[in-house]
Amino acid sequence: MSLLSIRGVRKTFGANVVLDGFDLDVEQGECVVLIGASGSGKSTLLRCVNLLETVDDGVIELDGTDITDPRADADRIRSGIGIVFQSYNLFPHLTVLDNVTLAPIRVHGVRRDVARAQALEMLDRVGLVEKAGAKPDELSGGQQQRAAIARALVNSPKLMLLDEVTSALDPELVGEVLDLLRELKADGITMLICTHEMSFAREVADKVCFLHHGRPLEVGPPGQVLADPKEPRTREFLSRII
Ligand code: ADP
Ligand code: MG
Repeated sequence: MSLLSIRGVRKTFGANVVLDGFDLDVEQGECVVLIGASGSGKSTLLRCVNLLETVDDGVIELDGTDITDPRADADRIRSGIGIVFQSYNLFPHLTVLDNVTLAPIRVHGVRRDVARAQALEMLDRVGLVEKAGAKPDELSGGQQQRAAIARALVNSPKLMLLDEVTSALDPELVGEVLDLLRELKADGITMLICTHEMSFAREVADKVCFLHHGRPLEVGPPGQVLADPKEPRTREFLSRII
């Protein structure tokens, strides 16, 4: 059984059919990269998985639980999923440490000293322990994004969703965030990632999924989808961005 199973997911905004019978599986420990033109529905798919959007039809199962069931406990499901966006969304008035401990203390009822120890361990993992007392605006963009990743990881999520987490960074800061994602992959963290970083996808992804007209038009290992695409639409997309 897959850790994440997306079956027949349909999502519309008015007359705009964004996801049209979408199927995708993410296995435990896999890194799956979503690619596709701007507006092809990558963010919407991640938002449906994190229950930030409700699907019109279809089923999403996480670890055997149907998370699209209206009776499902959305808060509990969300606490098992880490999500990181393009804009780091750190709270500017809180220190890096307080950003990371906020949800464990406020939402999950973790004791302050325990939350602090876990947060420091996580900040150490992302190479930011010496910045624990700093405010976000004292950090570079790459450091802020690594802090946001630490915040998403601190609950030990089953699944990490990463939506173009390097797109807002200056080019020289992209590498440090991608290096961190490589480490997470090596540690067995399951990830579903939207990115335009094709060399990263080629190197790290287990599977690449090309979205087109609300469907996964081509899914396979990067050596196939990126290096030898079968679908003319995939080829055309890749020729435009590489
Ligand atoms: P991508 O991440 O691939 O660029 P998105 O998932 O952001 O694509 O958007 C897919 C389509 O859904 C776009 O046409 C976008 O305008 C539309 N869309 C996304 N979110 C909303 C929303 N909250 N309301 C209306 N339309 C939306
Ligand atoms: Mg997007």
